[in-house]
Amino acid sequence: MNIEGSVTEKERSLLNFRILDTEPEEAYDELARLAAFVCKTPIALITFIDKDREWIKSAVGIDIGKREIPLESSFGAKLISDPEEFLSVFNPKSDKILGVNPLIRSIKDIDFCAGVPLTDLGGSKIGSLTILGYKPKDLSFEQLSLLKTIAKQIMVLLEQRKDPPELKAPVIDFKKYDAASKPQTSKVNAEDEDKFTTPQDNEADTVRTVIERDLNKEYVPSISLGDKDLSDWVNKLETQSKQLVLLCEMDELLQAANSDQDIFTIIKNYVQRLFPNTSGALFVLNDPLNLIQDVVTWGEGIRSEHSFGPEMCWGLRLGRIHSGTNSSKELYCQHIAEGDPFNYLCAPLSAGSKALGLIYIQESEEPQFDLEYESLGNSNKQYILSTIAKHSGLALANLKHREKLGTQAVYDSLTGLFNRRYMEETLKRELSRVTRKKNPLGLIMADIDHFKRFNDSYGHAAGDALLRSLGSFLKEHVRREDIACRYGGEEFVLIMPESSLENTRMRAEQIREEIKQLRIWHHGSLINSVNVSMGVVVFSEHGNSAETLLESADKALYRAKRQGRDRIEIA
Ligand code: GH3
Ligand code: MG
Ligand code: MG
Repeated sequence: MNIEGSVTEKERSLLNFRILDTEPEEAYDELARLAAFVCKTPIALITFIDKDREWIKSAVGIDIGKREIPLESSFGAKLISDPEEFLSVFNPKSDKILGVNPLIRSIKDIDFCAGVPLTDLGGSKIGSLTILGYKPKDLSFEQLSLLKTIAKQIMVLLEQRKDPPELKAPVIDFKKYDAASKPQTSKVNAEDEDKFTTPQDNEADTVRTVIERDLNKEYVPSISLGDKDLSDWVNKLETQSKQLVLLCEMDELLQAANSDQDIFTIIKNYVQRLFPNTSGALFVLNDPLNLIQDVVTWGEGIRSEHSFGPEMCWGLRLGRIHSGTNSSKELYCQHIAEGDPFNYLCAPLSAGSKALGLIYIQESEEPQFDLEYESLGNSNKQYILSTIAKHSGLALANLKHREKLGTQAVYDSLTGLFNRRYMEETLKRELSRVTRKKNPLGLIMADIDHFKRFNDSYGHAAGDALLRSLGSFLKEHVRREDIACRYGGEEFVLIMPESSLENTRMRAEQIREEIKQLRIWHHGSLINSVNVSMGVVVFSEHGNSAETLLESADKALYRAKRQGRDRIEIA
């Protein structure tokens, strides 16, 4: 492994920090613990790379005897020699280098190892923030962002160790971090960043740039970063990680949601948990009416109208979160009712360029104090709500897409009846059900008589209209438990679970008669109706499987045709 390039600089930097071979310190352990928490791994390490060893400053989740690892098998050394800012290794025990790492070898079942470098102000990578876990996994973007933030924080701690007499420790303005403490950075997606950019964001910039800017600033005589500030900062990061955990949890649930109602409930539940001092509502777009209408509300009543045109909301018009504050009443959306000034947020749910709805929250008129919520900071609140809205919008769009695909897989597009594939599957399922209950099952196979002639006389479009009418008729005239399907061109199958032969035959007669009476309009003229022939069978008398039953029904139908059509034959 070649880490020659940075050795001198790195060594000088390490000497300056005077960190090697120092005692463990709670402040470093806290940050390591936070890294493990954020990444949901049991173990985290803070290490520094000396010229001949990787030295461990902090280890959480594991008792270590020796605090050093030979360079040849060191993860930290591998990481800092890598040009990337992040390294992960699955199955480190089978890795050529890490496989002989005494620490990794000593932990049973370890199979995931990842880390980010600790980089000093001169750009030298001097150490590693490493996490070790039992299940190979990719870190999410948010987890990786936070890991990098924690690495920066470790460097802030380290910087204080230098503290030469002529220089004081850097002043860190925590208010700026507060405003900037969203886990998103501009690296992901320029478009998204634009969407969530707010005046505060622009001013505050990302955590990384703020820290860099502060650290690069001329040192000014001032108070140093005290234990209290640090613990405030750690508390804030912990709050953020809890929020991340909730967001991840919500995302998992959204992906498993099976209905709109599921999605609405999940959104309501998680918005309430993440914004405990608010009332709010979820609105969805009623497409045909082009109206945004609430589907679920929470809290103590909302100051928004319950149904309004999309153009009345700044959030929907701009395609990004809109914040109405009590200091800028003139920028309130039009769907907000008149009254005393208050704060609210409108986050559009969208998928691609299409708006699907809106999450609206308003702060309680008499807020109950909630430490975590109050410490969120306005831009962080906006970030969290935008994230919820983005994920919810995608979940809704995915569900609609799945429903559409599902519909295509189940229904015949011309008649709206079930398609043949669905019928065959259902028939098998119903047969096993009635077999268990020792009940019969009736099946009718119907075929339009001389349909070719009909097409020839009236045209194919009229034929289609007839098939559509027959579809509607069958849907309306079967019991809820019956299954009507289009079996082929002008053939239909009706499955009647629990129906006896006699009952099935009677129903077949009735349907045949009623079809004859059907009046079908096509292009403004009434066209002659048609007759149908039918084959009737019953399980298990005429077959004890889906295939044999259908075969028997087909034979009976053929007989009905041969015997003059417009009639019913029993197998
Ligand atoms: P039979 O009484 O023996 O059943 O005579 P038939 O003319 O109904 O039967 P045949 O099998 O000879 O012709 C079936 C016709 O059904 C031919 C085809 O054009 C028509 N057909 C099948 N599917 C459709 C469709 O989706 N739309 C229309 N308009 N016609 C269809
Ligand atoms: Mg026919
Ligand atoms: Mg036919």
